[in-house]
Amino acid sequence: MRPELRISSRRFIANIEAVRARIAPSELMLVMKDDAYGHGITWAVETAQSAGVDWFGGYDVAGGLEIRRILERPARVFAWATSTDAEIDEALLQQIDLGVGTDEYLGRVISRARILGATARVHLKIDTGLHRNGVLVEDWSETMAVVRAAERSGSLELVGVWSHLAEASDAEDDDAQQVFLGAIAAAASSGDEPQWQHLTASAASWWRPELRGSMSRVGAFCYGIRSADGPDLEGVEPIAELTATVLGTSGDDTLVGIGSFDGLPSTLAGMPVGTRSGTRRLLSIGPTSSVVSGDGLEIGDQVSVFGAGGRGECDATTLAESIGTVGEEILTRLTPRVRRVVVD
Ligand SMILES: *Cc1c(COP(=O)(O)O)cnc(C)c1O
Repeated sequence: MRPELRISSRRFIANIEAVRARIAPSELMLVMKDDAYGHGITWAVETAQSAGVDWFGGYDVAGGLEIRRILERPARVFAWATSTDAEIDEALLQQIDLGVGTDEYLGRVISRARILGATARVHLKIDTGLHRNGVLVEDWSETMAVVRAAERSGSLELVGVWSHLAEASDAEDDDAQQVFLGAIAAAASSGDEPQWQHLTASAASWWRPELRGSMSRVGAFCYGIRSADGPDLEGVEPIAELTATVLGTSGDDTLVGIGSFDGLPSTLAGMPVGTRSGTRRLLSIGPTSSVVSGDGLEIGDQVSVFGAGGRGECDATTLAESIGTVGEEILTRLTPRVRRVVVD
């Protein structure tokens, strides 16, 4: 039996509700990159929409279009990666909101909108210090003039101003916010204040209320992935459990059907796993099978590699911390050999 990633719709919805309650009145944009953080985008979009999510973040236009195809009702979809002209055309036809962080990209968005007779919904990105795409502070007013001119000609609507935080220190994030607020003030002085102002992702949205804008872009916490070295989150639980099947014994120990080919890093040897008789240890990780300490389990029994703790297993972030990475990476590395199964 192949390993399974068992995903709980109920917990996903509960997490979304906990995040929304925490960040209100800031609007939730649910971030869906990397196949909804490895959980499967179709299920994630459908479930989130049933929970009333109105904004989806798709990373690039291809991701945004995929979300648009899955959506059952109208909703806003935001794609922020710089894209080709062909992608811009598709995005305009499918009413994808575009995140724009360079003058070059802005120019192409405006010219494609003109050619198609469309109005591009743009969220302009200010560089608040991360130097990862974003209009520089010194260029902001000139770029804003281009935006306002395009608005007057009907090819663009400035619906948002946004940026991304380093989350390395509170002081740096505070400085970034000052730059962000300055950019919004400058935008407002040349026209309408953009409605959607978004700066924060999971950690800052949750822990730094003073940094939240009118919208918060949250991925990890909605999927129940806490920050590495971060505390537990009230009302948020892991939504996915990775299970492997007992194949037999290996000396005094137990052989289970999961390995590095499934995306399980072999450096996780030594970590705890959950079984019906409680916590055991993962002794070694091979390509397609691994050894779990102790015997007495039946062939066909399920072992939890990570999850919400029901069988004594730890969460994905705890595994990640042991090898110096983040919980998202444990989930997004799982290969298609791992069957995604939706449970209640
Ligand atoms: C990934 C990402 C997010 C969401 O980050 P989380 O920490 O998973 O909530 C938000 N904004 C941008 C630009 C991102 O790339």
